[in-house]
Amino acid sequence: MRLHPTVNLGILKFLGFEQIFKNSLTTLPIGGAKGGSDFDPKGKSDREVMAFCQSFMTELHKYIGADIDVPAGDIGTGAREIGYLFGQYKRLTNRFEGVLTGKGLEWGGSLARTEATGYGLLYLVNALLKDHADDLAGKTVVVSGAGNVATYAVEKAQQLGAKVVTVSDSTGWIYDPAGIDVALLKEVKEVRRERLTAYAAERDSAEYHEGRGVWAVKADVALPCATQNELTLDDAKQLVTNGVKVVAEGANMPTTLDATKYLQENGVLFVPGKAANAGGVAVSALEMSQNSERLSWTFEEVDGQLKQIMETIYDNIATTAKEFGAEDDFVVGANIAGFLKVAKAVEAQGVC
Ligand code: NDP
Repeated sequence: MRLHPTVNLGILKFLGFEQIFKNSLTTLPIGGAKGGSDFDPKGKSDREVMAFCQSFMTELHKYIGADIDVPAGDIGTGAREIGYLFGQYKRLTNRFEGVLTGKGLEWGGSLARTEATGYGLLYLVNALLKDHADDLAGKTVVVSGAGNVATYAVEKAQQLGAKVVTVSDSTGWIYDPAGIDVALLKEVKEVRRERLTAYAAERDSAEYHEGRGVWAVKADVALPCATQNELTLDDAKQLVTNGVKVVAEGANMPTTLDATKYLQENGVLFVPGKAANAGGVAVSALEMSQNSERLSWTFEEVDGQLKQIMETIYDNIATTAKEFGAEDDFVVGANIAGFLKVAKAVEAQGVC
């Protein structure tokens, strides 16, 4: 579920199309869809956001359900919005069920769902590096975005021994050569809902720059985690010149097609979002499982399953790429592996 002023039918169609093959790659029995609105929660009061969510759900509840389609967070849709949407769904249907994911821990949410997409991205990158006799320890990482995916990508990258030196939002970006302070980032973005200028004001080692510029910073690993088409051909050239080894998409389709081709032609290990950011929807499915059995699993249990799922996804896309004569081409691997499972299911269930 995306809430952002740029949302239009074209964006929802590409996101929905990607979601089908991403969900297929998770190994879990989930289909795929996408929804949203051009409503902008930014700058609105909690009361205004609640009014929008309630009106939206008054119509949407007819089309969703625990065994139909299940909205989860995306740009502009976090725990606050999911709460208002879920409350209205219950009010209208008189049912408590796993119809939305990313719910609060007090009312059916799963531990590790908040962290899932960012952590999952790093579990996959780590598996990829291991497969190439390398790891994240001591690597410099550039991240774009400062929302849910970016924040937990930064956190896990640092836990795995890397140094993350950038984050960004739609107005500017931070260069912090001492390494991003995740606690301060969470305080500024999640608690106070402020801009990145507030991060820079409170951190001596950080520089704030207006506009875009993250991809010009020298790094071993680049993780676009903001939005579509944010990494262009010029950015790709800059990354290659600076010796980047891995680009993995935390966002959905952040890398333009010509940039993707350029990175791959220049020996960069590139992992598309449908594989690299599948950890979010995977844990959404685990949240639904917990809702169905009326149990809550521990953080370690969910996180352990997430790690295993991401490693399996990496094995699957790497093996499929090799099988089809395209070793280390994870675009080929992810597209074919994701597609084949869907195609076989469609064939077995009869075409209409
Ligand atoms: P959030 O709303 O939490 O954060 C989005 C971040 O990207 C913000 O820092 C925002 O800055 C920035 N951003 C948004 N639009 C633009 C833009 N046009 N130009 C520059 N920066 C921009 O969203 P998420 O972190 O949840 O989502 C980020 C990406 O990850 C999306 O592509 C989403 O589809 C994808 N994704 C998310 C998953 C999830 O579980 N949340 C799962 C899988 C993929 P600002 O605050 O200024 O708007």
